[in-house]
Amino acid sequence: MGTTIKNFLRSLRRKMNGDEVIETKTKMRVLVVIAMAVHLFYMQLFVMCSVFPLVMYNLVVLSLYVLLLLAVKSEQSILVYSLTFVELVFNAIVSTLLIGWDSGFFLCIICVVPISFYLAFSTMKSKQRILLPLILTLVTYAIYVLLYRHTLQHVPPILIEENRIPVLFMANTFVVFFLIGVVSFNFIIEMLDSTNALLTKNENLGHAANVDPLTGLLNRRGMETHLEETMNMAKMKGALFSVIMGDIDNFKRINDTYSHECGDRALIHVADIMKSAIRAGDVVCRWGGEEFLILIQGNGDVARMIGERIRQTIENHSFMYKEDEICFTMTFGVSAYEPGFAMTTIIKQADDKLYEGKTSGKNKVVL
Ligand code: GH3
Ligand code: MG
Ligand code: MG
Repeated sequence: MGTTIKNFLRSLRRKMNGDEVIETKTKMRVLVVIAMAVHLFYMQLFVMCSVFPLVMYNLVVLSLYVLLLLAVKSEQSILVYSLTFVELVFNAIVSTLLIGWDSGFFLCIICVVPISFYLAFSTMKSKQRILLPLILTLVTYAIYVLLYRHTLQHVPPILIEENRIPVLFMANTFVVFFLIGVVSFNFIIEMLDSTNALLTKNENLGHAANVDPLTGLLNRRGMETHLEETMNMAKMKGALFSVIMGDIDNFKRINDTYSHECGDRALIHVADIMKSAIRAGDVVCRWGGEEFLILIQGNGDVARMIGERIRQTIENHSFMYKEDEICFTMTFGVSAYEPGFAMTTIIKQADDKLYEGKTSGKNKVVL
């Protein structure tokens, strides 16, 4: 028992934190169980007040709820919600007509307003989810007024002892507060669920926008954010940084000789080597096509050393594509930041050095 309560509280906490989504089936069951509890409560109350027709009425409704709980499937949630809703209003009308306005059953009709808005918003997607609860609010108000007029003009058919009336009124007040509390609580949980879903979606979108799907490296856009941050740090604190621009040599030949798929494998191979070659704090990206850009926290010499290490690893590590061993090399251009440089300047300089390397024999690092 203790473990069950602990598990329930743990799960409730997860739901409150938005870490766990509540299934429609669970929500529906909770709603039906609450409705059953309310009717059980009313039954006791009517036994106490000796209003046996209403004891019977509540007993019948209670049995119907038991059947609903057993028979219903999660996709029938709208049916369950609507039945519960109609039953709530019907119960309030019947009880008010039978035992009078002072019993406070009319209060349950007011509950319809928040409940209808909550249910419409949690189960519908269309424009109706605004229109329907607004119409229901107006209908509820009309019922409320008509019921009041009726009770002014007619004596209720069942008269209960004077001293029981405040008890009934307070019991109804309790039920109304309880129902509004439950609906508001559910509303908050659903808001947390949808906010959480939206945050996850946003995170995924943000990730997808900055990452190259083939290699898993940052893309140019993702790298630009890092470059800007590093540039600002360099301006403010005078920190040193450099960039290495690398380009696969004769990459077209790999594509043409072995297939585009093999070319893709080569890009992944380079990305893996670069990922393991850089130090914490350095960042590598796929700048575009078969070009890679590495941001190095350090001066030009450090960058050249790292570039050279990567160049050698690529030269010495082939990979297998089907039956073929694929070997290739890369050329690198290095540029170190100097005060007054714009981002475009440092990139252009690395690109120029890369071009220099390409035109002077490839498979080298040029600073
Ligand atoms: P160089 O040594 O002068 O760099 O010669 P290269 O053949 O590598 O140079 P070039 O820039 O002319 O060719 C790049 C090729 O890269 C052209 C393009 O089809 C190919 N490429 C670009 N993106 C991808 C990709 O995502 N996958 C594959 N397989 N090929 C790509
Ligand atoms: Mg190339
Ligand atoms: Mg190229």
